[in-house]
Amino acid sequence: MTDQSSFGVFEQVASIITKSKLPVVCGHIMPDGDCISSVLSLSLGLWKLGIQAVPTIDWPIPSGFEGFPYVQDISDFSQDVSQTDLLICVDSSTKDRLGRFEILIDKGLPSVVIDHHTTNTMFGEVNWVAPEFSSTAQMILRLLNFMKVGYDKELALLNYLGIATDTGFFRYSTVDETVFSDVAELVRLGADPAFVARQVLERDRVEHLYLKRDAINNLELHQSGLVAVSYLRNDSFVRYGIREDEFSGFVNDLRAIDTVEVAVFVSEDDKGNAHFSLRSKTFFDVSRVAQDFGGGGHKNAAGFTHTCSEGFHKALEELLQVIKEQLQS
Ligand code: 5GP
Ligand code: MN
Repeated sequence: MTDQSSFGVFEQVASIITKSKLPVVCGHIMPDGDCISSVLSLSLGLWKLGIQAVPTIDWPIPSGFEGFPYVQDISDFSQDVSQTDLLICVDSSTKDRLGRFEILIDKGLPSVVIDHHTTNTMFGEVNWVAPEFSSTAQMILRLLNFMKVGYDKELALLNYLGIATDTGFFRYSTVDETVFSDVAELVRLGADPAFVARQVLERDRVEHLYLKRDAINNLELHQSGLVAVSYLRNDSFVRYGIREDEFSGFVNDLRAIDTVEVAVFVSEDDKGNAHFSLRSKTFFDVSRVAQDFGGGGHKNAAGFTHTCSEGFHKALEELLQVIKEQLQS
């Protein structure tokens, strides 16, 4: 772990990146706003320095992000990466989060990890892991400032996206003075907060509400209302024509219930894999629970994927038992 004000880490990361001829900038599977923002902001910044960075995410980009510039330039693993000399992994706490790009780590390609997850396994050759930052996008801003990259409106907008989304639009406990001073800089450089809020928060299809209706039908409260749980099986997603990774906000609705400290939302994909999204309001550390099940994240937001359809309810029961034990300890 590295002190966020440390000059040395910027120098080390910047010097490796500027020596690279063709770095691949790689985000994580099931990408969120911080992931897309970090991949594109770092790539755009490096392009401005004359470095031919390749923005990659080995997963379809959720349609809510299609209105942002350069999103169509993100490629998956089908891109030819044979000439690359450096893998820069952003916002990814474990190497399996890279999708098929994981193989480049296994092959020993030089790598730099830039991430703010407490559960990061330090899988890179150089690891700048700084949980004191609200978002990986905030780390990218600091790095690009250190590298003296000039910001235009599009870069400011893309960089703002990750800080806004990973702080729940400036509501979470990760929001400190540095978040406001950093986004003030980005707004001064041309980022449009109202555009980002509209794109991310107000472009649902009516089918998203139908999915919420199904999820509300499956809602259960446990532990005298301290724990809220809901799930959607794959048939609901098929019925409404929405991919399961495009329906991510419901766990926050569960957490918003007055009595709730821990919220769990499970969504099943077309292969029978169940993605568990965990949230807590204040004291409960969901990242520890997610790690027990092979995932990771932050104290108040974490997740993991369970690969076995018959085990859907069994896995949920096991998880509830672990949460109950930790609440009582
Ligand atoms: P979400 O519930 O929105 O999918 O994820 C919440 C947080 O947990 C994010 O910070 C995300 O990076 C992390 N997370 C979600 N799923 C996984 C997973 O399968 N593995 C790991 N390591 N982290 C995850
Ligand atoms: Mn993040």
